[in-house]
Amino acid sequence: MDELVDEVGQCQRCRLWERAKKAVPGEGSLDASLMFIGEAPGYWEDVKGRPFVGAAGKLLDELLSSIDLNRGDVYIGNIIKHRPPNNRDPRRDEVEACSAYLDRQIEIVEPSIILTLGRHSARYVLSKVNVKMKGITEVRGRIYVGKPFGFPVRIMPTFHPAAALYNPEYRSALEEDFQRMKKELETLA
Ligand code: URA
Repeated sequence: MDELVDEVGQCQRCRLWERAKKAVPGEGSLDASLMFIGEAPGYWEDVKGRPFVGAAGKLLDELLSSIDLNRGDVYIGNIIKHRPPNNRDPRRDEVEACSAYLDRQIEIVEPSIILTLGRHSARYVLSKVNVKMKGITEVRGRIYVGKPFGFPVRIMPTFHPAAALYNPEYRSALEEDFQRMKKELETLA
């Protein structure tokens, strides 16, 4: 993982690095059973070089603590490692250029459960188990099982915490999904 973090720090595979302050490779426990995958760094992540440290990150911390976990227990990564200007959606060529890093991170951590946060990350990870999705609501709350990274994994798509900051319904759905994930973890243990 250290090598990968170095590579991400020097990455120029797409042009996002030109306007970014810091790369955001991801962080957490390399033994984690649970991995979170977000979309791309935002303003504060770009400043600090760490994932989910802004307002959405605060909600993620709260959701984690609601199931008695903290950041040190899980691994948190993103599909895109440099901030897209003005937080625009990542482009397809940027996802293609960057996603090999995420695949390697998943192979290193070998989580039992991947929780995808938001539609971009759901679309990417579900494509690995040949699921094509139109929108996040169609897949959220379901569990997809497969071995796309060489070991069995359960993929649970949920909403992005940033969406829940503006919509209380999404927040309840996220809380529900975290509870379900906790049960899944207990069953797997
Ligand atoms: N949103 C994301 O998808 N990832 C981050 O790291 C922060 C906000």
